[in-house]
Amino acid sequence: MTFTRRPLVIALVLASLLVRPAAAWGPHTEITLAALRVLPNRERWQKYFGHDWDRIARDYCWMGDWQEAVRPDHYADDYLLFPSMPDHVSHMHPDVRRTYAPFFSRALQALRTESPTNAARWVGSLLHFVQDAGSPPHTIGIGGDLHGKMERWVDEKQLDIAGYEPRLLGKTDDDALRGFEARMTGLFEFSRERATRLKPLVEPLKERTNQPLELDCALEVARVSADLLHTLFTLGLTETPLPGATIRGRTNYRPPAGYATVPAKIVLAGTDYSTTTDTEGRFEFRNLPAGRFTPWVLATGFETSRLDEVELRSGVVIELSAQLRDDSVADNLVRNSRFDLAWVKTDIPDGWIRDPRNKSRWGSAVIRVPLDRSCAVQMDFGSGKQVPVIARWRTNPSSLGGSREVPLKLERDGNSNRFQAVIAPDRTLTPFEAGVLFLEVLIETDQPLPVVCRHVTIAFQK
Ligand SMILES: [Zn+2]
Ligand SMILES: [Zn+2]
Repeated sequence: MTFTRRPLVIALVLASLLVRPAAAWGPHTEITLAALRVLPNRERWQKYFGHDWDRIARDYCWMGDWQEAVRPDHYADDYLLFPSMPDHVSHMHPDVRRTYAPFFSRALQALRTESPTNAARWVGSLLHFVQDAGSPPHTIGIGGDLHGKMERWVDEKQLDIAGYEPRLLGKTDDDALRGFEARMTGLFEFSRERATRLKPLVEPLKERTNQPLELDCALEVARVSADLLHTLFTLGLTETPLPGATIRGRTNYRPPAGYATVPAKIVLAGTDYSTTTDTEGRFEFRNLPAGRFTPWVLATGFETSRLDEVELRSGVVIELSAQLRDDSVADNLVRNSRFDLAWVKTDIPDGWIRDPRNKSRWGSAVIRVPLDRSCAVQMDFGSGKQVPVIARWRTNPSSLGGSREVPLKLERDGNSNRFQAVIAPDRTLTPFEAGVLFLEVLIETDQPLPVVCRHVTIAFQK
């Protein structure tokens, strides 16, 4: 009865897109909308981005708070981690400043080399950090309840900068980056001064009362966002004098059956260039520099593939065809399940992290598990290398708050080094997103993963 199920699936996808991460600068969406509305060439950009235009404000400007999450149609970390920014950093000052230059350059790169969808997502990541950097409590290091009071008590309806003329922050990439950083220094001073006055005003209040000082900051953040977007789109979407090289690729990728419609990711080893496949499994890089590059394809449910090195020259179009091999376990949901790719960091496989709660464990990328699905976990260890494995269920994919750990009772498959277990979502947890929990496996070892383990698989039970 797929006919009757479809509207439900669409409704669920829409509902999950509207879910916002907890504890965030309330008006990201309204600030972004206010900025987009005043862009001089708005119609041109809107046409370019198509259906992703609306998602910049509704969804992508929250990207920074979705770290580690697998969303209904993308992995957030594909737009948050790259070789020039290999770790998540705090969104508070002074740490948040470390995001400015790398994300500014990466967003420009995305506008020039990737699809409108990918560009919109990278721009969203940068917007998030910029907007957090101007949020009052972020400027003076305030956490807890007071943090929320100091950034969410804004009358969103007044978030309007009509009449503001966005400034071009520089005519070249270098000038624009310097102009952007100077604008951010100004924003920090602007918000910090107001945060200092705001703190004693809201501290004793129990009930929400909208604060003019917070609105002041939010309006300035909107003006900075408008300057930034105007600059990025003007520099990034204007034809470059030299066309550069193009790689056009085709793969047999399709997302695992019954799973989120996550794309495959293509990276050029040793560079910040990456992109993702469209719904047909195709991808394209435009405006690449000349040189030799080695593309890799990271595709959930398939073996990670290293493609042949390509030599690029200006104006040349290279056509690639990548026939990905199915993972030996059909529809395996573990990313980089054999640890083949180490692009973000050269010494740690992509999609794997040292567990922040216990550094002698490795954590997989999180997997979306509908509450009514069980998962078959299979671990192929190196000979004599079996170590404990723990399943951790998260309610919020981007937070360990409220998560629960369950040691896996792994059973050996005959005399092999293969161990298996079946687990089901912990239904006592309250999902953050309706009907879904997020699973990761934690592998307990101080050794590098490939030394201990050969292959990790998690698949929905049929
Ligand atoms: Zn905040
Ligand atoms: Zn944030």
